[in-house]
Amino acid sequence: MKTKLIKLDGDYEKKIEIAGEFIREGGTVGFPTETVYGLGANALDEEAVKKIFIAKGRPQDNPLIVHIAELEEIKSLVKDIPDIAKDLMKNFWPGPLTLILNKKDIIPDMTSAGLKTIGIRMPSNKVARDFIRASKRPIAAPSANISGRPSPTKVQSCIDDLFGKVDCILSGENSKVGLESTIVDCTSDPACVLRPGGITLEMLKSVDERIYIDKSIMEKPKSDFKPKAPGMKYRHYAPKASLKIIDGDLQKTIEKINEMVQNYIDDKKVGIIATDETLKYYKHGVVRSLGSREFPLQIAQNLFEVLRSFDDTEVQQIYSEAFEEKGIGIAIMNRLKKAAGFNIEKI
Ligand code: AMP
Ligand code: MG
Repeated sequence: MKTKLIKLDGDYEKKIEIAGEFIREGGTVGFPTETVYGLGANALDEEAVKKIFIAKGRPQDNPLIVHIAELEEIKSLVKDIPDIAKDLMKNFWPGPLTLILNKKDIIPDMTSAGLKTIGIRMPSNKVARDFIRASKRPIAAPSANISGRPSPTKVQSCIDDLFGKVDCILSGENSKVGLESTIVDCTSDPACVLRPGGITLEMLKSVDERIYIDKSIMEKPKSDFKPKAPGMKYRHYAPKASLKIIDGDLQKTIEKINEMVQNYIDDKKVGIIATDETLKYYKHGVVRSLGSREFPLQIAQNLFEVLRSFDDTEVQQIYSEAFEEKGIGIAIMNRLKKAAGFNIEKI
């Protein structure tokens, strides 16, 4: 398949219009958002949405999030908007927050993976919003990666995974948040977090202090687990090498990782995910830093690209430091644990 790569280096409006036209014609378009790059298609067109699942190799029981450019568009997509959803929209839209609401029949089952509910989000990224507006359609979009791989936060990663498999890729800036949106189920009372993300639990609680995180999120799923967010059951974000997280006191973590790295005769075969503060303590292996522990937002921003970066090396086993599960750290650890298939050693 021929993929048109659009660089936004001039004639901005004309180029955004071309990308929008691909959507109207039933095509697929990779595009930047503040969370991660998305792979979009007309959310109301079953055949178009099907192309997303095929391009990504995504299981068909994993629903898509519908992206809108303006608040009023939501009325045609959902049956009702509970007060909590209105309050969350007022506080956090446009931005990295997806609301689960009861869908209208206009949204095909292909988009919602047969569920009666749908996730809706209004992104804050300018290119994303202009592109959705130009398409004149609500855009269904999961992350623009091959299913199971870390989500792309720069256009090159989107190209690496999807060039030749989609109609168009819209090149934009690197994703500012770097992790997928926070998902809040507003069909239950109190509302419940189904996926942690850039909008933290503390931020959500400032709107309604009863909001809580579904407890299954941070644990290894049991074999009979039926999650409220279907995507939670799949292995996600995984680099090609095996990944193990070492979780505990930082000094002990460094010692433990160094001890395990000793088992590898060839330094090129073992990787370490470190932080700026700990980088100098690792003398062997392929060592990458996620950024400074003082700036967890930076760590979130870098996580997926650091995971991806090991795929171009000979590394077979990666050891990663862990992060405190508070604020954005909850989302960071959620993605890291999933990437590791919950292979985590507490020390
Ligand atoms: P992605 O766009 O790749 O980040 O995937 C979207 C994720 O949102 C899915 O994996 C689901 O877990 C979740 N999701 C989407 N729609 C719903 C819904 N109606 N109910 C619960 N979770 C949903
Ligand atoms: Mg995804």
